[in-house]
Amino acid sequence: MTTQAPIATTLEKATVQDLRSRMRGAVIQPGDPGYEPARRVYNAMIDRHPALITHCADVADVISAVNFARQHQLTLAVRGGGHNGAGLGTCDGGLVIDLSRMKGIRVDPTKRTVRVEGGCTWGDVDHATHPFGLATPSGFISSTGVGGLTLGGGIGYLSRTYGLTIDNLLGVDMVLADGSVVTANAQQNADLFWALRGGGGNFGVVTSFLFRLHPVSTVYGGPMLWPMEAAADLLRFWRDFILAAPENINGWFGFVTVPPAPPFPEPLHLKKMCVIVWCYTGPLDQAEATFKPIRAFGPPAVDFAGPIPWPALQSMFDALYPPGLQWYWKADFFAALSDPAIDLHVTYGAQLPTMHSTMHLYPINGAAQRVGRDETAFSFRDATFAEVVVGVDPDPANNERMIQWAKDYWLALHPYSAGGGYVNMMMDEGEDRVKAAYRENYARLAQVKATYDPTNLFHLNQNIRPATEVRR
Ligand SMILES: Cc1cc2nc3c(=O)[nH]c(=O)nc-3n(C[C@H](O)[C@H](O)[C@H](O)COP(=O)(O)OP(=O)(O)OC[C@H]3O[C@@H](n4cnc5c(N)ncnc54)[C@H](O)[C@@H]3O)c2cc1C
Repeated sequence: MTTQAPIATTLEKATVQDLRSRMRGAVIQPGDPGYEPARRVYNAMIDRHPALITHCADVADVISAVNFARQHQLTLAVRGGGHNGAGLGTCDGGLVIDLSRMKGIRVDPTKRTVRVEGGCTWGDVDHATHPFGLATPSGFISSTGVGGLTLGGGIGYLSRTYGLTIDNLLGVDMVLADGSVVTANAQQNADLFWALRGGGGNFGVVTSFLFRLHPVSTVYGGPMLWPMEAAADLLRFWRDFILAAPENINGWFGFVTVPPAPPFPEPLHLKKMCVIVWCYTGPLDQAEATFKPIRAFGPPAVDFAGPIPWPALQSMFDALYPPGLQWYWKADFFAALSDPAIDLHVTYGAQLPTMHSTMHLYPINGAAQRVGRDETAFSFRDATFAEVVVGVDPDPANNERMIQWAKDYWLALHPYSAGGGYVNMMMDEGEDRVKAAYRENYARLAQVKATYDPTNLFHLNQNIRPATEVRR
């Protein structure tokens, strides 16, 4: 991220009125009713005050808002689902393009595709595709925005089976920095399409995404919990299992604190435990046999895995992580999970600082690994695991403690990492970390950036500097 773009502090009333007259959606300013909720994003640690929030209703509104921000040299933030940990969907003193009114979705069951507008969450998409028995790879929670998750890569339950979200992206329509509208896909603006698949919101505002769909309806999945004492053996078992497992099974590993509420058995409430959350998309009549070796590792203390509709698995953790919590995270990719790294995980996992804090290891082998590291902007195709250490709590008084834990945990494991992290699970960590995330793809991304956004109008993202930067 760069903070060098000029910030307009005063906007003439007539100028704002002119923008309002061009837009179907609302334009909200400080003092207007609705400003307070409109300025907030998912992470309550982010407390910014934009000068203008545009609730774009359609592509024409997005064009007007982009042109307005450029002409008035306003800092520009683009918000899809607002879930970004670093708060990249908002800004101080600038203009926010909020896409949350743009929720159109059209499923084509014959072609097995879905066209999704830029303001949808994954819950919106699942709702639309499930009646057709179809789904596309997304994440592990349904309240996340399609926009940010897709443009950063998209790691989820279906990554081993059908690849990352970007591997299922067939094309986009988008508004560029000069206000023009383009389509990007394998045939049209192919350089832009390459960059969009992992390069984040650096290149413009995506107004709609076209995804490939797969037959996913009722899956066999859910969490299994084991005691903390089993952590080292369980991590080793899980590592070996997931490296050899068929691609139709996914299970991410986590350290968690059991919520003090049903359906969890009371004796386990607030206990720190290990979890693996499974998703198996193979034939349901073979599910029990597939899970036999897993249960044979040692009977889980809690075993909620079973047949479950895809949207129910996707939204299982939404209520545990509502908007408005304090949120701080750090991420890295790993080619392998060595025994010394496992020992460190066990040490730091046992020190979860708050009930919501957690560490997840997502497997990204299988289909996600079959794409070459230069085929899309997402570089870490040779990584097998994506790690994220997350400090979360409702009370800001705990921030210092949980942030320190997250930093210490990440730092201890970093020497075992592949050197870079997932851009969608980073805070504002500086240009070197952005370069580390893209490795040799960074130079090509900077070239594409120079072509499509030479003045870096879209800089509130994990920012890629234009190869030849033009001052605005
Ligand atoms: C609770 C939670 C669970 C998560 N789970 C997963 C997961 O399972 N898998 C995973 O891969 N990630 C996951 N993430 C990370 C998530 O992918 C990122 O936080 C992502 O940035 C969120 O996208 P958004 O649209 O909601 O965010 P926003 O804050 O709205 O946007 C994030 C960035 O994307 C840009 N952007 C958003 N939409 C558009 C658009 N239409 N056009 C251009 N730029 C756009 C914004 O400008 C900004 O830079 C999770 C995050 C949270 C908080």
